[in-house]
Amino acid sequence: MRRNRQTKIVATLGPASSDHKMIRKLFMAGVDVFRLNFSHGAHQDHREKVKIIRAIEKEFSTPIGIIADMQGPKLRVGKFKDGSIALKKGMTLRLDLDKAPGDETRVNLPHPEIIKALKKDSLILLDDGKIRMRIKTKGKDYLVAEVIAGTKLSNNKGLNVPGVVLPIAALTSKDRKDLSAALDMGVDWIAQSFVQQPEDVAEAKKLIAGKAGLIAKIEKPAALERFDEILDLVDGIMLARGDLGVEIPPEDVPAVQKRILHKVRHAGKPVIVATQMLESMIENPAPTRAEASDVATAVYDGTDAVMLSAETAAGQYPIEAVSIMDRICERTEDDQLYRRIIEAEKPEIDDDASDAITAAAYHVAKNIDAACITTYTTSGSTTLRIVRQRPPRPIMCLTQNNAVAHRLTLSYGVHAVHVTGVKDTGAAVKKAAAMAIERKLAKKGDRLVLTAGVPFGTPGSTNILRVAWVE
Ligand code: PGA
Ligand code: MN
Repeated sequence: MRRNRQTKIVATLGPASSDHKMIRKLFMAGVDVFRLNFSHGAHQDHREKVKIIRAIEKEFSTPIGIIADMQGPKLRVGKFKDGSIALKKGMTLRLDLDKAPGDETRVNLPHPEIIKALKKDSLILLDDGKIRMRIKTKGKDYLVAEVIAGTKLSNNKGLNVPGVVLPIAALTSKDRKDLSAALDMGVDWIAQSFVQQPEDVAEAKKLIAGKAGLIAKIEKPAALERFDEILDLVDGIMLARGDLGVEIPPEDVPAVQKRILHKVRHAGKPVIVATQMLESMIENPAPTRAEASDVATAVYDGTDAVMLSAETAAGQYPIEAVSIMDRICERTEDDQLYRRIIEAEKPEIDDDASDAITAAAYHVAKNIDAACITTYTTSGSTTLRIVRQRPPRPIMCLTQNNAVAHRLTLSYGVHAVHVTGVKDTGAAVKKAAAMAIERKLAKKGDRLVLTAGVPFGTPGSTNILRVAWVE
């Protein structure tokens, strides 16, 4: 599936998108990477979805990325008898340790340590801040809160207590089980929630042991303070604006987005802008103009990927949401101002041969108007160096490493192809031309620029730049 855009689309799967037919349609509409949200659903459901995605990628012979998103120490209320309740200003709701499904009067809050840490008059925000409550009374194992604002509260919604430092571990025991199950399913990425310090990601990284890439979700003020150290340790970043915009004032979010995107691009790692991008499309077939602008802003900011959450997981218009997101990305990338902004933000070249070659590939490709830049890579690092430059034409990554091909589905402009049996530069050039035609990235008579390393298959050896005709 040739995409006419460089920015990638991540879509979350859920009840509205769980069968083969729907997931296939989402892929056809433009999804490059699927996100499995381990806050919801049983392992068996996720495993089923992984199977479906792997079958679809086989059908289209192209890698599709899968992110397993860990719940993390996110505070959540329990379930309701009817799935949700209607809240009104002035109502009181009891939050307690009883696991039984809740109703209009009470709901489970399965975190005794939080009940202990909260005080009378503490503000509680639910469902990404859509519901506000204030604690009225407090008992040994329950809280009673009054609704200040809010309407509907459904099963397992998140709960934030801004300004209160909570005594909770970075990886919960559920996370450890989920993480090991997700690795067993063969997902490509693990996303870690509520990262606060470098130690948090170091622990996750150790457990993952190279079997998947690690994405740190940035949604806590503490993570912003030590962002550089966290970025150093992980393979990618998700700007999780849902919780972030509750934990810090909403007016701070745009500047934080710009700062984070700049840093992650410069580090040569993929970054995802997430949450509320087309929120109103959960119920409406078309986005608001402000939402269209938000997606475009992320693209102008140079993001690798934009993400859909409830829009595709639980909304009424999953396909429409992906389609319009696809069109907004494409249109924005066509804007002349977009190119100017992206060029102006271009990172300096590092002092090593591989970075010099990738930068040269970028310039040569531009000067000769090459159809695409091809990287022949083992570890994927050369491809990520080109991605940093944000070239105007697609990057075709040929790799013998299937895991690398899958991880690169998240990166800006990359069309990853898993190849085998390429032993020298001549064979690489031939393969590149054939693949570029097959993937509709070039046609006969076009030129492509190829980077590779000799000896072949040695990681970190990129030392060749070739211009080749596609014939
Ligand atoms: P979540 O993460 O959907 O797992 O909460 C995204 C966010 O907080 O924005
Ligand atoms: Mn979150």
